[in-house]
Amino acid sequence: MKRRSLLKTAAALPFALTGLSMAAPLRRRVRPGDAGWPSADAWDGLQRSVGGRLVKLDAPFAGCAAGSDSPACTAALARLHNGFDMGDQPNFTHTSGWLDAWSSQPSAYAVAATTTADVVAAVNFARTHDLRLVVKGGGHSYQGTSSAPGSLLVWTRHMNDVRLEPDFVARNCGTAPQPAVTLGAGAMWIDAYDAVTTRAGRYVQGGGCTSVGVAGLV
Ligand SMILES: Cc1cc2nc3c(=O)[nH]c(=O)nc-3n(C[C@H](O)[C@H](O)[C@H](O)COP(=O)(O)OP(=O)(O)OC[C@H]3O[C@@H](n4cnc5c(N)ncnc54)[C@H](O)[C@@H]3O)c2cc1C
Repeated sequence: MKRRSLLKTAAALPFALTGLSMAAPLRRRVRPGDAGWPSADAWDGLQRSVGGRLVKLDAPFAGCAAGSDSPACTAALARLHNGFDMGDQPNFTHTSGWLDAWSSQPSAYAVAATTTADVVAAVNFARTHDLRLVVKGGGHSYQGTSSAPGSLLVWTRHMNDVRLEPDFVARNCGTAPQPAVTLGAGAMWIDAYDAVTTRAGRYVQGGGCTSVGVAGLV
């Protein structure tokens, strides 16, 4: 392509993209209270298909409505001092949000996934009922991309297997075997450091904050 044609194309591109975005506005998915929101029976069906790992979520500080010195409120506030404890709660995120951009709000329900089949069931349920779907691992997203009110959450926290691979060769690659580690979707960096460095004496590069999720960072 000639340089002049390339520049003309590049100059026209933003206008072409504007046209596209006007033609396809974001679609609103079904939210709690909408007519299409799944019935109690439908949620029961999902509960059965994920082996009882479907959890209905409340706001993390809902207990504070009964008073800031109520036991529920005291327990919720205490969590703010322990990042690992916060990460163990499907309704928490590690940041409260950004002013005028987003604020942390829990999903309506979470599938506390332990298997691939749980994730498949959650994705299929969200597709069938046209729900918002969000994935959360470590819950440290600064942009709020693991927080979506009224959504169904795939919570990967318990999928934290760590497997050391002394002679790893990527599938269909003819490269020499080398040490590697395979980490589950919900593993935190502390899981990786513990297995790779503390126990196996090798090195793995992650973040400084050990409760950050491996998959989210990668
Ligand atoms: C308190 C704090 C400390 C931090 N410290 C560091 C640090 O020391 N070093 C550093 O590099 N960064 C740091 N970060 C930034 C952090 O690495 C990124 O925000 C990272 O994306 C968080 O990943 P997560 O899994 O913890 O978060 P999440 O919010 O769970 O996930 C982040 C994004 O990844 C998506 N996601 C997560 N898991 C999956 C999956 N299995 N499949 C598909 N999508 C997935 C989520 O949907 C979301 O969009 C920090 C952030 C916070 C809030």
